[in-house]
Amino acid sequence: MPIIDLKTLTIKKAHEHLKNGDFSAQELAESYLSNIEKKDKDIHAYLEVFSDVLEQAKKADEIIKAGKGTLLTGIPFAIKDNILIKGRKVSAASKILEEHKATYDATVIKKLKDEGVVFLGRTNMDEFALGGSTENSAFGPTRNPHDFSRVPGGTSGGSAAAVSVNETLAALGSDTGGSIRQPSSFCGVVGLKPTYGAVSRSGLIAAVSSFDQIGPITKTVADSEIIFNVISGKDHLDTTSISEDEYKNRASSAKGSGVPRKNKKGDKLVVGVPRHLVEQDGIDKEVLENFNKSVKHFQGLGYEVKDINLPNVEHSLSVYYILNFAEVSSNLSRFDGVKYGLHKEGKDLIGDYFATRGEGFGKEVRRRILLGTYVLSAGYYDAYYNKAQIVRKLITEDFQKAWKDVDLVLTPTSPTPAFKIGEKTADPLQMYLADIFTVTANIVGIPAISIPSGFSEVGGNKLPLGIQIMAPHSREDLLFMAGKDFLGEQI
Ligand code: GLN
Repeated sequence: MPIIDLKTLTIKKAHEHLKNGDFSAQELAESYLSNIEKKDKDIHAYLEVFSDVLEQAKKADEIIKAGKGTLLTGIPFAIKDNILIKGRKVSAASKILEEHKATYDATVIKKLKDEGVVFLGRTNMDEFALGGSTENSAFGPTRNPHDFSRVPGGTSGGSAAAVSVNETLAALGSDTGGSIRQPSSFCGVVGLKPTYGAVSRSGLIAAVSSFDQIGPITKTVADSEIIFNVISGKDHLDTTSISEDEYKNRASSAKGSGVPRKNKKGDKLVVGVPRHLVEQDGIDKEVLENFNKSVKHFQGLGYEVKDINLPNVEHSLSVYYILNFAEVSSNLSRFDGVKYGLHKEGKDLIGDYFATRGEGFGKEVRRRILLGTYVLSAGYYDAYYNKAQIVRKLITEDFQKAWKDVDLVLTPTSPTPAFKIGEKTADPLQMYLADIFTVTANIVGIPAISIPSGFSEVGGNKLPLGIQIMAPHSREDLLFMAGKDFLGEQI
């Protein structure tokens, strides 16, 4: 069996090797399986490694041999445990769904199956994608590959850790308020949250329907782009998904007044920096230093940098969490012990609900259901839910104004590097505050990418840092361009 250097492998390279017959999809899958076997005892990125991986790979080999392979044929993928793969377990890392099996494929899964990818397994996450560290999993935390005493971030912590430690070549995550980007930054990989509606949510277990998006976690920006191109597109099963025409229209109307949008072969893109947001209390000193270096790096690449003001963005966290709780309380009402998964007997029907939901849901999920029910209750609806919707609109307008002057907005992805396991679990507010930079893109629905920007030396360990780039609706192309420029990826 050929020795495959998983460390330097990318989708692009693997595709060339598979095409040239340097190794087969089965050999590639075996390499990943043996790496999982070696490393996942410590990391716990996977909740399940599938038993039919080699059979899937064999099918991919047949497609490649027949000359019908595409860029993704035979490429190993890890899938976050809230995305449905027909016939396989899907638990959202919750006890309430521990034995639940998906009855259909998520649209993204259908698309990946059409390409002949190889699904390695399902990855760990915070229960129902609520959290920021993967500690809220009912099945134990995932560890950060760069320092086992630290979290990998969350909620797609299993997916990000698996990519970072070569337990898969690529992964899917979901992002409601940072769940792809923050773990990507903690684990030193690339994570994309697409424009709201760019990728179908059909078959994604809903957390916060007006914020959720599925996106790729990869080692390079080029790989992220490859996956995005495959999984995006209009889907009649998700009425919020965007058609190609709508997509293009929105992209052109997102253009500001007279700012030239050229790539690096032409001239500069303009990068906006919301200093008032970035230079706040609670932002780690090294994160700030690294961010300032990253801004300089963009300048060195010919990008123009402008300070910008997003006056309402300081309210992002309040808006995000009020709407998050509200939508979570509504979305999770379907888990009643009757339709899916766990069922516990009570005295009567209501008793069944209490028993099932009390035992099946973890603490954070219950907290959000209670708070969400409160903010939606008759006496408080206007004060919380409606107010948050109004401010959501104001924040959106802040960005519409900003796009007249700049093409991109840059922030750190997270205010700190990966924190210690247990450090924030006793204080949910501290956990929520860590989302300060990421929630805004979900509130507005714009695309955002986290890319590795260096390391912070903490206690003898090098912990990865990331920067976040945001772009107008439908302008993932700008994110890919800037991301590749920043990392010096060959285009
Ligand atoms: N940390 C955020 C939350 O707990 C984001 C979660 C996510 O993106 N799924 O809501």
